[in-house]
Amino acid sequence: NFKPAQRLAQLPPYLFAEIDRVKNEVKAKGVDIIDLGVGDPDLPTPDFIIESMNKAITKGENHRYPSYSGMNTFRECVAKWYDTRFGVRLDPKAQVLSLIGSKEGLAHFPLAYVDPGDLVITSTPNYPVYPIATMFAGGEIYFAPLTEDNDFLPDLEAISPDIWKKAKIFFLNYPNNPTSAMAPRSFYEQLIAKAKEYNTILVHDAAYSEMYYNSANKPLSILEIPGAMDVAIEFHSLSKTYNMTGWRVGMAVGNAELVQGLGKIKSNIDSGIFQAVQEAGITALEKGESFAQEMRDIYKGRRDVAVAELCKIGLDCRSPEATFYIWTKVPKGLDSAGFVTKVLQETGVVVTPGNGFGAPGEGYFRIALTVGEDRLREALGRIAKL
Ligand code: PLP
Repeated sequence: NFKPAQRLAQLPPYLFAEIDRVKNEVKAKGVDIIDLGVGDPDLPTPDFIIESMNKAITKGENHRYPSYSGMNTFRECVAKWYDTRFGVRLDPKAQVLSLIGSKEGLAHFPLAYVDPGDLVITSTPNYPVYPIATMFAGGEIYFAPLTEDNDFLPDLEAISPDIWKKAKIFFLNYPNNPTSAMAPRSFYEQLIAKAKEYNTILVHDAAYSEMYYNSANKPLSILEIPGAMDVAIEFHSLSKTYNMTGWRVGMAVGNAELVQGLGKIKSNIDSGIFQAVQEAGITALEKGESFAQEMRDIYKGRRDVAVAELCKIGLDCRSPEATFYIWTKVPKGLDSAGFVTKVLQETGVVVTPGNGFGAPGEGYFRIALTVGEDRLREALGRIAKL
């Protein structure tokens, strides 16, 4: 009998809640479920990272409140990693902030820069936190569609000057979840020019920057593009690269004013990450590169299996160059939700409906490469029969 706040009432159902419900129904019938739904790596966190956390715990300097901004050693390590990986120089004190997973930072950022009625642009389909965090801050959303015709990049010229003038923030994410697209340097250059012209903050989500398959074409950090440091903040995460989704460790880096604005919000909400997890994060960033490469090799094998099977079925089978997602079209005559439900009910394979990420995702579904090659073959074989 409690009247929910408008923001609670406005929340759409959690994307995976309905899928989970049907999944449990199907499972209860004894069907062998193959889950290619949520983007959560199936492989374990490597031992060297776990050992580093164990060591930090037994050192016994962990019981006090950590700082919302992160330990100095963690922030220094992030700065060093950005320099090594992207050639981006960061002042660890002013331009790096630890996050309780990047989702936490993304969700809090609009509270620092969006007033009620302010306009926020986000591409669609998208990771749902961007529009929801905007709504929490009272902002209005303008959706810039990602279409295959434009390589799943927002068409910046199609956004009218009126919208640009009002836009406080532009949220974007490359390599992209769910479309798996990468953004070229020229796109970032064009975007930064627009942001400067209209005084728009660029929020770039780089959670998948280490999941790439062609080392001659590695994903970029927006911060390596000249001028970005004036207008951009980048969110990053250890979750996907090092199989650490449950550890909740990420970082925000970039323009000092923006990083510190977010820090001020966070200092009033959370008290940071358990120190031993930060120690493990340092180990991951310092020693994790060969492990990250092993993971890329594994996902590449899975990607090739999935793409080959999709081609055999006669479905759209473009091969993604990054992320562990395949974004592909549902068969003609079906809609996303209808297809996904049918596949789940009749084959026990869980995939995600494209429209769950926003209207332009209608007609697509997403496969997460979170099972081994044999299980993937089995899953796509079942879909082929259907
Ligand atoms: N950003 C994108 C695009 C994601 O897909 C995810 C997780 O699925 C996240 C951020 C959140 O990652 P975390 O909060 O684990 O750092």
